[in-house]
Amino acid sequence: MTEAAWQRHRRRVAELSRGLTGSRGAVRLRKRTSNLFRPREDVERTELDVTALDHVIEIDEEARFADVEGMTPYADLVDATLPHGLAPAIVPELRSITVGGAMTGLGIESMAFRHGLVHHTVREMDVLVADGRVLSCSPKERPELFFGFPNSFGSLGYATRLRVGLVSVEKYLRLEHTRFSDSESLFAEIAEECNQPSCDYLDAVYFAPGEVVLTRAGFVDSLPAETAASDYTWMRQYWKSLREKREDYLTIHDYLWRWDTDWFWCSKSLGMNFKPLRFVMGRKRLNSITYQKIMRASHHWPLSMLQYVRPRTESVIQDVDIPIDNAAAFLADFEAHIGIRPVWICPFVVPDGRFSLFELRTDTPYINFGFWDMVRSCEPDGHYNALVEDLVARHGGKKSLYSRSTYDESRFWQEFDRATYESLKRECDPHGRFPGLYEKAVKSR
Ligand SMILES: Cc1cc2nc3c(=O)[nH]c(=O)nc-3n(C[C@H](O)[C@H](O)[C@H](O)COP(=O)(O)OP(=O)(O)OC[C@H]3O[C@@H](n4cnc5c(N)ncnc54)[C@H](O)[C@@H]3O)c2cc1C
Repeated sequence: MTEAAWQRHRRRVAELSRGLTGSRGAVRLRKRTSNLFRPREDVERTELDVTALDHVIEIDEEARFADVEGMTPYADLVDATLPHGLAPAIVPELRSITVGGAMTGLGIESMAFRHGLVHHTVREMDVLVADGRVLSCSPKERPELFFGFPNSFGSLGYATRLRVGLVSVEKYLRLEHTRFSDSESLFAEIAEECNQPSCDYLDAVYFAPGEVVLTRAGFVDSLPAETAASDYTWMRQYWKSLREKREDYLTIHDYLWRWDTDWFWCSKSLGMNFKPLRFVMGRKRLNSITYQKIMRASHHWPLSMLQYVRPRTESVIQDVDIPIDNAAAFLADFEAHIGIRPVWICPFVVPDGRFSLFELRTDTPYINFGFWDMVRSCEPDGHYNALVEDLVARHGGKKSLYSRSTYDESRFWQEFDRATYESLKRECDPHGRFPGLYEKAVKSR
């Protein structure tokens, strides 16, 4: 059974490799979903259809890992592991995020205060490079590629298989929501949790100055008598419950996808706070994949005409990482200059500092701040996104590249290790079939 699964996997990869070597010119991926929020220039490219590469190949319960194909959505991986009482150590919040996408795009979630980011939990992988070779890498085998791949966003090659670390989970979680009126005490408490964890999952939401809610979630194998697990997959909204409850219970499955139903809270821009609309949409359609489709449709005529009737805005969709000692100051500056609310707060540690395209300090926890909204603007387009980049630099942090970036080229390469990247690029893609990282992340190629 397992050998057959490996054979099928090898056949799919061989076919993909033939698709790459049998075509010419620049390449882009054809996938069913995407969580990229940068504009994409319409340039002629060969499309590499990777949709078939979405299988969980094998789960090793004892060694606690899963071998997974690169385009497997986390939703499918979680469905495969939960029956074994296991889950990926880091499960990014949106169901459609794929394992390869999270490895190359720096996935995070609320176990990151224990384990680090997605790439800290991947043990090895295979990468399809431009001449059709599939290169295996790990911290021991081709370490430059393994440590250079996270944050490369498909510009070096495509992960076809990843060995993902798993952790044991229980059936339910007890959630404890604690309200903080000042962010210094919040970050002090988070720092303590990073030092000596007292719970299994940890994240927080900044609703307004003086109102932040920290959520500690811990495994329990059964529910207290006469208590039912909450259901936030249809008419009730998880993010609102944080302000209303001190304690809550969720199944592990619903906890892992708690942010997906309402795309954190971003579904409110699409009217999903309006109960009759939620009712009509139904449980099945309330998820990030539906909202992605609506957002993409809104870029096409006639919905794009809306830009002429609403006030001028700039879309600021970003995740940034700030050392914990600077987190309170960053948040205050962010509130003063950008002012998007709510803000998602997810702490993480850095177990290994060797990842060359995203070098972080290992002597401190970081705070990931996620904010995704429109800002009213009378400024030239890009002003607020550039301001975010300035604030991040001022507070010693780093910014994710899944969304818009405004850096000029020399500034960009001050953030990321150019020499190591260029040497990997020469090895994996000497003729530039994949766009370079700067061209992709900033120039939208
Ligand atoms: C609103 C919003 C909220 C987000 N919140 C979170 C969050 O809470 N946690 C989190 O972890 N992330 C979050 N992300 C970021 C997300 O994880 C990254 O954008 C990730 O790269 C998306 O993966 P994907 O599988 O959807 O890939 P895609 O969006 O399809 O692709 C992303 C990039 O990766 C490349 N790529 C895709 N698959 C592979 C592969 N197998 N090998 C090599 N390159 C590949 C593509 O070429 C592309 O450049 C968020 C993004 C948005 C827009």
